Amino acid sequence: MRAVRFHEYGSVDVLRLDEIPVPEPGPGEVLLKVAACGVNRVDILSREGVTPRKVPLPHTSGSEAAGTVAAVGPGVDGVEVGTRVVVNPTLSCGRCTPCREGRDNVCRYGRVFGVETTGAYADYALAPASQVIALPDTVPFRAAASVAVTGSTAWHMLVTRGAVAPGEDVLIVAGGSGIGVMGVQIAKLAGARVLATAGSAEKRERLRDLGADVVIDHTQPDWGRQVRHATGGKGADLVFEHVGTATWEQSLQALARNGRLVTCGAHSGSTVSFDLWHLFVKEQTLIGSFAGTRRDLERVLALVAAGRLRPVIHATFPLAEAPRAQIALEDRTVFGKVLLTDEERRDGEEGSVRQ
Ligand code: ZN
Repeated sequence: MRAVRFHEYGSVDVLRLDEIPVPEPGPGEVLLKVAACGVNRVDILSREGVTPRKVPLPHTSGSEAAGTVAAVGPGVDGVEVGTRVVVNPTLSCGRCTPCREGRDNVCRYGRVFGVETTGAYADYALAPASQVIALPDTVPFRAAASVAVTGSTAWHMLVTRGAVAPGEDVLIVAGGSGIGVMGVQIAKLAGARVLATAGSAEKRERLRDLGADVVIDHTQPDWGRQVRHATGGKGADLVFEHVGTATWEQSLQALARNGRLVTCGAHSGSTVSFDLWHLFVKEQTLIGSFAGTRRDLERVLALVAAGRLRPVIHATFPLAEAPRAQIALEDRTVFGKVLLTDEERRDGEEGSVRQ
């Protein structure tokens, strides 16, 4: 089978299309025939060797995997060959205290699929049988692969951790990103008034199409003040932050008294500073959020199946063009998800999504 791997850390040039044997599922594992795989920033960080723990080499990235079960290993019960599934990317043990409390995303023994395991930039991938979720018939592989990380992460941030409430002003920073397009829609579903930022007029227009009530240009140095202005001087009740150093100061500037800032990422840098005085005087809350739970992902898939949450796919590339897909992800013009897939698009599969 084909697998896109890197044997050393570095630029996109280290990605190679290798021919390797199809892996055999071990006890408790399933073999997935990959139909679509989402491309994420963590894939690029892994390849560059800048994740907190470097991935072992050679490595196959790909955390957002959807496909068909092609084989099952010994002891697998309840997952049939031929079932259409998506892999829950936060692999968990199911037994530790956080798992028993339904917080499997912070499992004590948790691993991220495609980062701490071999991922799905390949024709086939192995996954624990306990971590695959059967797809509703109405959810295409591409849709599942485009929400497996981004949809569940956005849901976890806004609903599970951020406790978004109807009528609140919610700021979605970098709303045109893969996670941002989910954040805008989920906040609207929750009944919030959504303010979203983007760096181009075209993206701001598309954010309005997705339901954003107010759009803000985050290339303006004082965009945090514009959020305050758009909320009658109050600021956002809930700020959805995933960029890090580049947006942190203005995200705090935009935060209301008694507001919550929830953050799940820091690809522009993870070291920030802030004034404790503002934090305690305004009784603000900073909330960390990591990926999503299985339950979060199941809820997102149910909303996709019902047509209430719309995957936004910017572009698809064949597996062999994974380097181009990663380059595309780094391009500031991306709006929504970049996917790897060799499947022909079915008529009407992605509705009005642009390609
Ligand atoms: Zn656990």
